[in-house]
Amino acid sequence: MNILTCDIEDWFHLLDIPATANVENWDNFTSRIHGNVDRLLEIIQLHGHSATFFCLGWVAEKYPEVIRKIDASGFEIATHTHTHQLVYQQKPEQFCQDIRRSICTLEDITGKKVKSFRAPGFSIIPGMPWAFETLVELGIERDSSIFPLARGHGGFATFGSARPAIIECGGGTLKEFPISLGRLWGKQIVFSGGGYYRLLPYRTVQKLTTKSDYLMSYFHPRDFDPEQPVLDLPLFRRFKSYVGLQRAFTKFDRWLAENEFIDMLVADEAIDWDSVPRISVN
Ligand SMILES: [Zn+2]
Repeated sequence: MNILTCDIEDWFHLLDIPATANVENWDNFTSRIHGNVDRLLEIIQLHGHSATFFCLGWVAEKYPEVIRKIDASGFEIATHTHTHQLVYQQKPEQFCQDIRRSICTLEDITGKKVKSFRAPGFSIIPGMPWAFETLVELGIERDSSIFPLARGHGGFATFGSARPAIIECGGGTLKEFPISLGRLWGKQIVFSGGGYYRLLPYRTVQKLTTKSDYLMSYFHPRDFDPEQPVLDLPLFRRFKSYVGLQRAFTKFDRWLAENEFIDMLVADEAIDWDSVPRISVN
């Protein structure tokens, strides 16, 4: 199964950059969210796929029409927190308040329960069982915050599964949809979003896709926007953030044409949860 997901945030919601870290400064940036989300919705609908959209509560509060449009298009509205902070830098109470606020904002707009979550930058790392407990407490049933390799903003290399699993934590259980991996040049990589997706030739991405029986993708509206302002980043991050933007949309279009994609709701129903690994995070 191939699962299509997008994190709904603006071009300036990059993590760990002094210029964009402070939520109070976000009003100073000119938003590009409307046009970029429209493009995404159109292309996904054109190919007849479903998708899950992890939306920032901040975006929802400022531009509720964007959330209404995604919802009206028949896509799942999920949460990506309210203010896009790295979870491992938050205190449990801050994390809880931030997600609760995003859930309330999104539910007020759509009138539907929010049941899926993804952490900004996949920033739930080992040794944070409270994060999963908070999600359970807030009524979240499906999580897609596990990046099962080491990475800049955390990652959870010791999770032990790049396939659906049940997370057991103090407060109960969560259905986990980790980011999937592919093998290239003898190395495990994440190819279904981010820099690798844009950097690798199309045929390599397609080959890795065909080989995967579980694929979890992650895109952002800015991933297909070559006109976005370029932020002042260290060289490697600049490369990772902006490489391949020009061709990304054409590649995405072809990828959507050649493969089937579902959202997390459909995937949830298709997975036999009794047969997946149960992983304790306590
Ligand atoms: Zn994000």
